[in-house]
Amino acid sequence: HLEIHDVSHRFDLEGATLPVLDHISLDIQPGEFVALLGPSGCGKSTLLRLIAGLESPAAGFIKADGEDITQPDPSRVVVFQDPTLFPWRTVRQNVALGPEARNLLRQENDRISEVLALVGLQQFGSAYPHQLSGGMAQRVALARALVNDPAVLIMDEPLGKLDSLTRLTMQSEIVSLWQQARFTALLVTHDVEEAVFMANRIIVLSDRPARILGEISNTLPYPRKRGEPALAELRH
Ligand code: ATP
Ligand code: MG
Repeated sequence: HLEIHDVSHRFDLEGATLPVLDHISLDIQPGEFVALLGPSGCGKSTLLRLIAGLESPAAGFIKADGEDITQPDPSRVVVFQDPTLFPWRTVRQNVALGPEARNLLRQENDRISEVLALVGLQQFGSAYPHQLSGGMAQRVALARALVNDPAVLIMDEPLGKLDSLTRLTMQSEIVSLWQQARFTALLVTHDVEEAVFMANRIIVLSDRPARILGEISNTLPYPRKRGEPALAELRH
């Protein structure tokens, strides 16, 4: 259970104060799939960083299962907007970052193969990041997040760099993964159809400083239809 309570945040930019989040309150139940929509620069990534524990809010608090989030935790992993892969490590070694710290066990090796297959990169385990396309690098970042079986998967436009076909496939893959593993999913996207296809709750944020403009509960059954028919059904 994630509790975001009256969170406001600001940055100091060249001596001026830049308000970024404006009294955000949000309760997310375990197993929900929440999509956040909002204009560019409104504060979405900032909100995700706070939920991940990478920064502390200037005001308000964020709790995970009743405890204040004060630092990053492997049970809440983020797939960043710009995947940061270690250039001197292969795809497998990048995905293995978490498990490797505990010495790779055989089943963990199997798990790495499994998540690489899941994101369609089984043949690229020994490739280096400079040999990948932008979309492939994004899929490595997703695999690296999934390998730890997180309780909360935080995704910051994880499919932004993919071609539209791969994007559709990955949307379905992430949804079926979520249905199997039942983690809590938080997705920032600019793509309304992606939000409608994937999430069971859609939160709409205002321009900076982001406040919650409204929310839509999306009870369309999975697997979902795509495009206009789905959007039309949601409007009812
Ligand atoms: P996009 O959709 O383009 O990714 P976003 O909604 O994710 O945008 P954020 O990255 O959260 O937006 O940024 C919100 C605002 O906060 C922007 O105006 C940005 O310039 C500012 N900002 C973000 N991080 C910092 C920082 N570390 N220091 C100063 N300002 C920052
Ligand atoms: Mg962002």
